[in-house]
Amino acid sequence: MIDSPDYFDTIRQRMVQEQLISRGIHDPRVLAVMGEVPRHLFVDDAMQAHAYGDYPLPISDGQTISQPFIVAIMTQALQLTGTEKVLEIGTGSGYQAVILSRLCAKVYTVERLNSLVASSRRLFDRLRCYNIQSKLDDGTLGWLEHAPYDAIMVTAGGPEIPEPLLAQLADPGRLVIPVGAQDQQELQLVTKKDGVISVELLEYVRFVSLIGEHGWNR
Ligand code: SAH
Repeated sequence: MIDSPDYFDTIRQRMVQEQLISRGIHDPRVLAVMGEVPRHLFVDDAMQAHAYGDYPLPISDGQTISQPFIVAIMTQALQLTGTEKVLEIGTGSGYQAVILSRLCAKVYTVERLNSLVASSRRLFDRLRCYNIQSKLDDGTLGWLEHAPYDAIMVTAGGPEIPEPLLAQLADPGRLVIPVGAQDQQELQLVTKKDGVISVELLEYVRFVSLIGEHGWNR
């Protein structure tokens, strides 16, 4: 069963239907890509059967891969059309970066833990995601060299929106980030348009901590 090539495809289509479409995810490009990317490759072998469940899963170093619905909400909020340059903070397993890479022109992703930079790079190669560039660094500083970004996604929760990320966001631009306490955050969609910043609450969420100069100390 689990060895059959169709097995993961079947449960992935069920995930799209039951967790995403039924809860209002409507961007056809987001739904198509989440129906294609082999999420089970981004978790430990022992956890593969759970990869399409309706919950986040542990990856290495105490970090997590977000619940599929949260990946979908955050991705949909960026309204990507295929031409954008996107910055992701918190590469983790690399799953979110791969989803983004199929919806925009170029993804830059920053991760503070070396082991995750290494394991995610292997997956980017294996899945032939040649439009992803990653680096080991404190992502609360952004990635100045390639700024400005049409869209920015932060996949770890911080006490506030890091100032460098707002500065590196293009105008117009969209940024999605969990902001709040370390045990619960608001998922915020920040838009920059004609120099004006506005913030919209999308969802209450629980992410691992954004640790760095413009994040938490630990
Ligand atoms: N997007 C990931 C989920 C990552 S979990 C995925 O699809 O799997 C959050 C990640 O943010 C963790 O890997 C954590 O190490 C990383 N992180 C936390 N603070 C960071 C910082 N300041 N800069 C870069 N990465 C950070």
